[in-house]
Amino acid sequence: MLPPSHSNTIDFDAAKLQRLGFPARRKATLHPLSLAQLRQQLNLQLQTSLELERILEVFFQEVQQLIPLNALVYQMPAHDLRLEFGERATHSASYHLSHDGDYLGELTFRRNQRFSDEELGQLESLLACLLFPLRNALLYRAAVQSALRDPLTGTGNRIAMDQALQREVDLARRSLQPLSLLMLDLDHFKRINDTHGHGVGDEVLRSVAGALRRQLRNVDMVFRFGGEEFLVLLSNTSREAAALVGERLRHAVENLQCAVEGKPLQLSISLGCATLQPGESARSLLRRADDALYVAKREGRNRLSMAS
Ligand code: GH3
Ligand code: MG
Ligand code: MG
Repeated sequence: MLPPSHSNTIDFDAAKLQRLGFPARRKATLHPLSLAQLRQQLNLQLQTSLELERILEVFFQEVQQLIPLNALVYQMPAHDLRLEFGERATHSASYHLSHDGDYLGELTFRRNQRFSDEELGQLESLLACLLFPLRNALLYRAAVQSALRDPLTGTGNRIAMDQALQREVDLARRSLQPLSLLMLDLDHFKRINDTHGHGVGDEVLRSVAGALRRQLRNVDMVFRFGGEEFLVLLSNTSREAAALVGERLRHAVENLQCAVEGKPLQLSISLGCATLQPGESARSLLRRADDALYVAKREGRNRLSMAS
């Protein structure tokens, strides 16, 4: 844990911002707590969950029994993570958190009055109670995420895809928003494996997945559906808009600069596009996208075909 830096700036970065809308309310306590009592209470409370959001929420609430705060901001850029509790405020004290040499992110306390030296000392003492639970919560989060990710390409795996597809279909129905799917498959991928070996094939899969992700908005979801097939879920996207996205992806793969031993490798994908129809199931939507992909293959590859 490094010494605090004081600053009067409020910065919001482009990383995922999650507002939990937590009121900066202090509990009415009849007897003010001592630092030692609060530490003891925190040690117990922070053991009750492995969820990062919950742990930080408890910490924010408990700390306020001793030190008034307006906000708590937790950032872990490597995990694209930013959690914010409470309201904006003008003064801040930030801490780089680490435990046993592991970087655990950055925590900022904010409020409208300056922090006194005594308060900063107390915050540091309370922060020490947070480190171990925080490290466990980050490990837990990483384990849950890796269970949902394809290890080769870093895209979502089949389990994640099934969950996301059902969730998005339900959401599209409830909110009456369009939902489109792109099913895509590398063209003549077997040839790449046969000619250059499986290792080069794997590298190609990784770079295609990277190209897809670079082309898509954050809310779009890419999943590895099978060996060299990917599924892209486009929430709140009409048939026409999905066709444009599909064409953009096709161009991106076509223009990928892949080379084996200095010789360029020409890649392409075929795509099938389908948009959810009223009352349609996730399964049927997936089947229509797959049928459209089959048509794109049959009509010559390196093209997009729209489901009827
Ligand atoms: P098409 O244009 O019709 O899609 O032809 P294709 O050769 O791409 O399709 P086919 O289904 O015949 O071959 C897919 C190949 O993908 C066969 C399989 O060995 C390869 N493959 C599947 N998973 C992986 C993987 O994880 N790594 C590598 N390197 N190859 C894989
Ligand atoms: Mg293929
Ligand atoms: Mg295939």
